[in-house]
Amino acid sequence: MLISKVNVRPASGSSTIVVTALRSFKHLPTLKKYNLIKPEHIHAHSFHCNHRLLRGVGTMSIAENLQGISDRVKTAHVNSKFADNAEPTLVAVSKTKPVSDLQEVYDAGHRHFGENYMDELVIKSAELPSDIKWHFIGHLQSNKCKDLAEIPNLYLWETCGKEKTARKMNRALESRDNKDPLLTLLQINTSEEDNKNGCAVEDAVQLARVVIEECDQLKLAGVMTIGKFGRDESERPNPDFVALLEVRARICDEFGFDPVSFQVSMGMSGDFEHAIELGSTNVRVGSSIFGARGKKPSAT
Ligand SMILES: *Cc1c(COP(=O)(O)O)cnc(C)c1O
Repeated sequence: MLISKVNVRPASGSSTIVVTALRSFKHLPTLKKYNLIKPEHIHAHSFHCNHRLLRGVGTMSIAENLQGISDRVKTAHVNSKFADNAEPTLVAVSKTKPVSDLQEVYDAGHRHFGENYMDELVIKSAELPSDIKWHFIGHLQSNKCKDLAEIPNLYLWETCGKEKTARKMNRALESRDNKDPLLTLLQINTSEEDNKNGCAVEDAVQLARVVIEECDQLKLAGVMTIGKFGRDESERPNPDFVALLEVRARICDEFGFDPVSFQVSMGMSGDFEHAIELGSTNVRVGSSIFGARGKKPSAT
């Protein structure tokens, strides 16, 4: 049997790299030696192994990764109960990646990008084409509201988690040129971890009220969660996703919104298909498109 395609999933991360150049079994003894391949995988077209030892065999380009992920988003959507709704937006999460990597994704026709750090967003948005739709998905410090408000092609602020930040961002937006209200999601701390940013589940309706009633520069467009890291597949449906859907239902009830047009941003590299199955409208995928990131402060 010839192995022409190998799905490589690093044990510790969530990125998938597809190696195409493994043409014969001659690599298998090595893989076995390092305990990278188990006998039951040999008949499968794909198997999991540690990608570091396979680097250089031939990895897919970023554009090819993007194509693969887009296809999986489409497939997950058409197979879901929500196939009649709009296809979920795929946000290419490009934090820590160089402008040239983003350009490659842009050249492949992609327009939705997500950034976590203000300094990177300021530089990248200035260097890259103005028809990119930027999603800010990081923690927004109050002293950075003005910088964020000045990004001309900021499309969606996904991480509004506090009344204070909402009001501050609202004020910062008053002086910008673009007069359309900024599409805004409430970040909900569905896993109730102390180290996670976002609004507590029980405070979500109140935060929504502040955005709706006091922030005329913001347009409440939905809710977002990061969720607990490292949940495994035995926790299905993912309790964070279930909790976020409940928050959406509550807000929509309270303010008379149509849930179909109220966004739920959930799902990342490791679980975006599951999130779509549950009705995610916005998936944020980084490492599966751009490759693993170096160690940097993780955004919470
Ligand atoms: C980094 C990040 C992602 C993407 O994570 P991957 O696992 O690399 O796909 C999504 N959402 C947020 C808020 C992030 O900070």
